[in-house]
Amino acid sequence: MIPMVDLKTQYALLKDEIDTGLHAALENTAFVMGPNVQAFEKESAEYLGVKHAIAVANGTEALHLALLAAGIGEGDEVITSAFTFIATAEAIRYVRAKPVFVDIDPRSFNITPEAIEAAITSKTKAVMPVHLFGQPCDMKAIQAICDKHGLVLIEDCAQSFGASVDGKQTGSMGLVSGTSFFPSKNLGAYGDGGMVMTDSDDIAQHIKVLRNHGSEVRYYHDVIGYNCRLDELQAVILRVKLKHIEEFNAGRRRAAHLYSQLMADLPLETPYEDGKGIHVYHQYTLLSDRRDDIMAALQKANIACAIYYPVPLHQQKVFAEYCAGVSLPNTEAVAKRCLSLPMFPELTEEQVREVVGVIRGTVVV
Ligand SMILES: *Cc1c(COP(=O)(O)O)cnc(C)c1O
Repeated sequence: MIPMVDLKTQYALLKDEIDTGLHAALENTAFVMGPNVQAFEKESAEYLGVKHAIAVANGTEALHLALLAAGIGEGDEVITSAFTFIATAEAIRYVRAKPVFVDIDPRSFNITPEAIEAAITSKTKAVMPVHLFGQPCDMKAIQAICDKHGLVLIEDCAQSFGASVDGKQTGSMGLVSGTSFFPSKNLGAYGDGGMVMTDSDDIAQHIKVLRNHGSEVRYYHDVIGYNCRLDELQAVILRVKLKHIEEFNAGRRRAAHLYSQLMADLPLETPYEDGKGIHVYHQYTLLSDRRDDIMAALQKANIACAIYYPVPLHQQKVFAEYCAGVSLPNTEAVAKRCLSLPMFPELTEEQVREVVGVIRGTVVV
C-alpha cells in the first residue's frame, strides 16, 4: 500500500521532539495564545522573510482575514484561479466580494498575467494568485500588473510553504498573504492551522484584533472579530516541523524528479517546472488522456491517487450566479486529464518505481 501522504512515517522520525514539546505544553497549560504560538510566529516570519506572521485557526480563515484587513468588501471584484481548492473563493465570498475566475496555463496549472490583465474592470480591487501544487505563479509579472492598476495582491500560499521566487518566499510578495497548515500541506499540523503574512504594521495589527474577538485590550471590543486563533499544541508540532521544512521540500523535489525521469518516455505529460521559481511539489500531478485507466490500475495495485480538481470553480453550482457563460478552456481540459500521485518527503525510490511500474504497464501496450 502506498498512500497519497504518509504522516505516520514522518511522525516516527520526529516522535521524540514532538512528544517532548507536547508534554511540556500540557504541563504548562497555556493552551490558547501560549508561548509556542508566539515563538512559532517569530520563527515563521524569519523563515519567510516577512515582518509579521500571524497564526490563525486554518488557511481558509487566513485568506478571509487577509481580505478583510486589505479592505476588500461588497461590490469589489477579486481575480483568482478557477483551478484551485474551493477555500480560495469561499474566502472572497465571506467578505461579500465577487470572485472572478480566470484561466490557467495548461502546463504550470497557474493563472497567467495575460488572463489577469484581460479580466480587470473598474470594480477589480484585488488579485489572488494561488501557487498551485507548490509551484510559484509568475509573480514578477503579476506584481507589475497590480502596481500598474493599483490592485491589492494577496497570495494564496496554502500549497506553497517554502517555495520561492529569486530567493523571496511565496507569501512575502503580496500586500498580505495566507497559508494553511492542514495536515497534508507541506508544513502540516496534526489538526487545523493557518497563518497570515504581511510587512504592513497596520494590517498585522488589524489581523491580530480580528482573530481574537475584535479585541486589542481584553474585554474591550471596537470591532466584530472572530475566534480564529492557532492552538498551542499545533504550534508545538509546527515549530518542530518548521525546522525540517527545507529537507521536507527537498525530499518532495527529489521524489518528483525521479517520477519525471522514470516516466520521460511514456505517452503522458509529467509536471512542468516553468523556471519562474522553486516548485515544492505539494502535489505531483500528471496529465493523460488515459487518466481514468491509470487511476483504476493504481487502485487495483493498492496505490493511492487523486484528482485535484475534478470540477473547476467556475463550474461549481455554488458559483453559478457569477459564471453564466464563462468558459475557461485550459482549466476545463486539465480537469479532465489530471491525476495526482503519492507525494510526501519520505517517499522512497522503491515506492516511486512501484508507482511508475503500474503506470507504465497501463499506458504502454
Ligand atoms: C488547503 C487550501 C486552503 C485552505 O486551507 P484550510 O487550512 O484547509 O482551511 C486554501 N487554499 C488552497 C489552495 C488550499 O489548498
